[in-house]
Order: sequence, then structure tokens, then C-alpha cells
Amino acid sequence: MSSIFTRIINNEIPCFKIAEDANFFAFLDINPNAKGHTLCIPKKEVDKILDLEEETYMGLMAFSRKVGKAIEEALDCKRVGITVIGLEVPHAHVHLIPLNEMKEATFQSKVKLTTEEFEEIAAKIRAKL
Ligand code: AMP
Repeated sequence: MSSIFTRIINNEIPCFKIAEDANFFAFLDINPNAKGHTLCIPKKEVDKILDLEEETYMGLMAFSRKVGKAIEEALDCKRVGITVIGLEVPHAHVHLIPLNEMKEATFQSKVKLTTEEFEEIAAKIRAKL
């Protein structure tokens, strides 16, 4: 069965999309550590990031860099943290988290956003790409 992220790529599940190219896809995390918390994924479904082919791994990092710079420009944050975990969803992904405080990097403290807020944040980031 396809991962939830493959279903997002295939438009079977909605998301707040940030960017897409031939091989990669970015969208807002639905349970964010901070406003603008974004996930970047390869379209090819592979569970662990270190199991990606080197070219895909490097491509994912370059794509994440581009999206991360747009987040930094679009939102009020000190910097964008980059984290890889993968304990919840078995489809390799990079977390890009706009950081002002250490607690936002911990995955223990979450923010609740309305659909309108998600849409507004996604539009701000997209405008900087
Ligand atoms: P992890 O696999 O531990 O790196 O975490 C997976 C992340 O995916 C979590 O931060 C979830 O909030 C996020 N997530 C799970 N399902 C969705 C979804 N349908 N849309 C956006 N983000 C999701």
C-alpha cells in the first residue's frame, strides 16, 4: 500500500502545497512545531532517507535548501532548522522548521492553525520561490 505521502503527491489526500518538480514535493506539516513547518519528500517512495540513491538524496537536499531559503525570507524566524526523523511516516522526508526558540525544534510543542492560516502561510512561502 502507498504511503500517506505518496497519496498526497497523487492528489488523493489534500495538502497545503509549497512546491513540486519532477522528482520532489514540498507541503506544510499538518501538525506543525511552528508556523511554516514544511516537509520535503522525494516522489519515489523509499522509507529511510539514508537508503535513497545518492543522486536522489543530493537532489532532495538541494530542493530542501531552495524551499528552506524561501521559508526564511517569507516568515519571521531566526533560522530554519533541518531535521530528519521518520518514525511516523515510512516515506523519506526532510522537516524544515522556522525557529525562534529551541522548543520548536523538539517535536514536543505544537501549534494549532486554522485552514485559513495554513493557506496564508503556504502562499507567503510560495511567493518567495
Ligand atoms: P516523522 O515520520 O516522525 O518524521 O513525522 C512525520 C510528520 O508527518 C509529522 O510531523 C506529521 O505531523 C506529518 N504528517 C503526517 N501526516 C501528514 C499529512 N497528511 N499532511 C501533512 N503532514 C503530515
